[in-house]
Formats: sequence, C-alpha cells, structure tokens
Amino acid sequence: MRMENKDVDLLWEAVVVDLMPMISTVSYQIWISGVKPLKIYNNKLVLSVQLHSNKTQLDNVYRDKIVKCIRKNSDFVDDFIVVLQDEESSLEESQAQPLAENAEKSAAQAEDAPFESTRFKSSFTFDNFVVGESNQLVYAAAKTVAEEPGKRYNPLFIYGGVGLGKTHIMHAIGNYIASTRPDLKVRYAAAETFTNDFIESIRTNKDSGLNRKFRDNYRNVDVLMLDDIQSIAKKPGTQEALFHTFNYLIDNEKQIVFSSDRHPSLLNNIEDRLISRFAAGITVDISPPGIETRIAIVQRKAYERRFHISAECVEYIAEKIDTNIRELEGALNKVAFYCEMNKLAADSTDVVRAALRDEIEEGGRALDYEDILDACAAYFGVRRDDITGTRRSKQIVAARQMAVYLIYDILGLPLAEIGTYIGGRDHTTIGYARDKIDQLRREDPIVERQLQDIRAKLGKA
Ligand code: ADP
Ligand code: MG
Repeated sequence: MRMENKDVDLLWEAVVVDLMPMISTVSYQIWISGVKPLKIYNNKLVLSVQLHSNKTQLDNVYRDKIVKCIRKNSDFVDDFIVVLQDEESSLEESQAQPLAENAEKSAAQAEDAPFESTRFKSSFTFDNFVVGESNQLVYAAAKTVAEEPGKRYNPLFIYGGVGLGKTHIMHAIGNYIASTRPDLKVRYAAAETFTNDFIESIRTNKDSGLNRKFRDNYRNVDVLMLDDIQSIAKKPGTQEALFHTFNYLIDNEKQIVFSSDRHPSLLNNIEDRLISRFAAGITVDISPPGIETRIAIVQRKAYERRFHISAECVEYIAEKIDTNIRELEGALNKVAFYCEMNKLAADSTDVVRAALRDEIEEGGRALDYEDILDACAAYFGVRRDDITGTRRSKQIVAARQMAVYLIYDILGLPLAEIGTYIGGRDHTTIGYARDKIDQLRREDPIVERQLQDIRAKLGKA
C-alpha cells in the first residue's frame, strides 16, 4: 500500500516537472499545485482536486499536456482521471505534498544559496552541562555524535520532560561542532519552525527557486537537529516532508538529532514509518535529576553568575525544587535577585525561604480534576470534550481511562463523583476504567510509561 502510494507520488512529481515549462506560473499555481495524486487505476493516474472548476480545467484545458507528460514518464500508465477531493485528502496540508516533492526536485537544479549555520547559544555547552545519573547516557551519546557526526548513532533521539536539558544538549552538540569542525554545516530548528518553513515554502513557491530555501535549510547540511519533534503530530504534510528529508540525509550519511517529550513509541498521530525511523539509531532518555545532581547544578549556576551562596542554601534550594532544571535555575535567579535587592547575603536558609516563598509554600493552587483531564487530553492529542463525551476512538478511550485512573489515584475522589466529571458516567463504569488501567500498567510497560509521563506533566512524578 505504502509502496504503491509512493510510486504514484513519484510519477506525479515527474509529470509536474515536465509540465511546468509548458504552462505559466500563475496557471501552475491555480490549477496544478493543489492536485493530489491518489492511485493508479486501470492504467490511469487518479488525481484528486478540491474544486469542480479545477476538475473541468484539468479535463479540458490541460488534458493533452498532462497525458503527454504521463506517457513520457511511465510505460504503463497512459491517461488520467480527475476526482473531487474525498475526506481523506481534506487533511490540512496533504494536497500540498506533491508540490513539496516536486519543488525539492527543481530546487536541486537551482544553484546553491549561501548557507548560514545556526548560531548556537554560547551558554549551552558540554562544559557547563552538569552530568549526573539522570542524563549521563544523553551526554555520552551527544558527545559521540558531536565528535563523529553521521558515523555512530544516527539518528540520535533524545526524549524527556520539559526543562531537563534537551535543548541545552542539542546546542552543546552545535557549539562543539562549530568549534572543532567549522567546515560542517549544522542546522538546529524547533520542529515547529520546520513546520512553518514547510508551509511557507508551499505558499511562496515561485517559478524556479521553488522551495529552494526550504531544501537548503534542511537538506544542504551535515547535521540536522530538530527540537520537540512531537509537535509535528497531526501534520501529515510536514511529516511527509520530514520523511523525505530524513531519508535523504541518512542516505548521505548526514547526522540527525531529534528531541521529543516522550519515547518514539508513545508519539501519537505521527506516521508509523517516521516513528520506526526515529527509533532506528539510538534512543536515550533524560530524566529528572536526583538530589546530588540538583545540588551540583545549583552550585554550577551560582558559580557561573558569580553569586556567592552557602552550601546550606544550595542544598536547601536543591531539596525544595525537585521538578526540573529550568525551575531550579529560576529559583536560584530569584534568590540572587532577592539578595541583591535587599542587600542580603545568601548564607542562611531563612533568606532563601523568604525569596522563594511562592515556590515552596503550600499556598499554590492545588491540582484539580480539570488539570488531570487537560493533561490526559493533551498527552493523547484529543480534546477535553472528547474525554467527557461519548466517542470511542482508541486515543479517546485511552485518554478517558487514564484520566479516571489518575483522578482516582492522585485526588482520591469517590468513583461516583469522578463519574460526574467524566460526562455523567456511573460508578461501575468508572470502577471498570480504573481497574483496567491498574491491570494494564502491570502488564504493559508502555502504559506504565504513559502514566509516568502524564504524572510528570502534572508535577506528580
Ligand atoms: P528542555 O529543552 O529539555 O525543556 P532546556 O535544555 O531548555 O530543557 O533546559 C532548561 C534549562 O536548564 C536551561 O537553562 C539549561 O541550561 C538548564 N539545564 C538543563 N540541563 C542542565 C544540566 N545538566 N546542567 C546544567 N544546566 C542544565
Ligand atoms: Mg527545549
């Protein structure tokens, strides 16, 4: 099935390349760029378009030209038919895919644009990355990749919760290569930027330099790093573009590094063929630091900002702030600021306690069932209404059962009350969902991992 689709895409791509010189840019944009090749049926290429006017135009005005180009590129397909877009192709970006493909082709013929490596944050280096049990694997893998890009671990897939150093380590790779191998082109981007650039490249395609910028940015590189790759979920066009970019780079022995908030197997709404590629190299996780590492980090950060702080105060901060490194750093900054403003020395825990009263005292808003619903909905890529509603897709049911389990487990509410929050379900249904997850988490490590991920997001790890 996949193979077949691929062939269809390739054929259409070739047809478009040949067709382009025969028609004006404007006609191309209006009539051809949105056409999606669907399949080959009875030796005919089936094309799908959105509008009736589009179909008429292809059938009448462009028929001969397209047929000619098809025959030129295939021995066995000799004609085409146009159908109106079905539901499948209403996926947001998919009609743009053939264009993206084609654009990459024509960009290959365009001359190379000057390339600028990403500028990396100078403070995110290996040297000031504190290594502990929670991140030593990531550190070692990243170091290897930086020393020998494209040779050993490819792709490197780093996953872990927010504020644990994923972005830092990617910049560290970039900084390291920039200083040791300035001849290499290194590109770092948030996956969201990749998505935006992809969409932009479709929107602004021009006659010749079609997509050249996009291609240069992401293919004309020795190392490509995409941060927070989970954000390409539900974006089929972007996934397609990434798939081809990925294959191109790997085929050319270029290094790829991804980061994500979770293990590849737990990414929802991302194509299987991408997931299997994410996991084809090495997958390493970065977890919340233990107390020793937290102490080392606070010490290190205090030293970096030339802030004098007693060992007792360092320990106090490290003990109280156990969520992630970003918050740990934020807490230290707060203490430093507080001391500076009030002309105090950071030499007693009273001072620290006063500076951090908002962070450590119980005054903060308590977690409620809505937070848990939101966290489960976000994790499974569904809406909160879906959880409380009646639909039963796999993701929705998973999110719903997980929400029930976590509300019970974290808030300890009675089953009947939980039922009222989950769309007025009765207590037996709720009890069933809870028991189901309780059983699954013992049998299936993936479920256990999902629970941990969501708990981490709720700050209840
Ligand atoms: P993520 O991308 O995983 O959300 P970041 O890489 O942005 O996290 O890290 C958050 C902050 O914590 C950054 O300021 C970073 O420098 C710091 N940080 C993370 N891990 C470490 C570490 N091991 N040593 C020192 N600082 C760290
Ligand atoms: Mg990050």
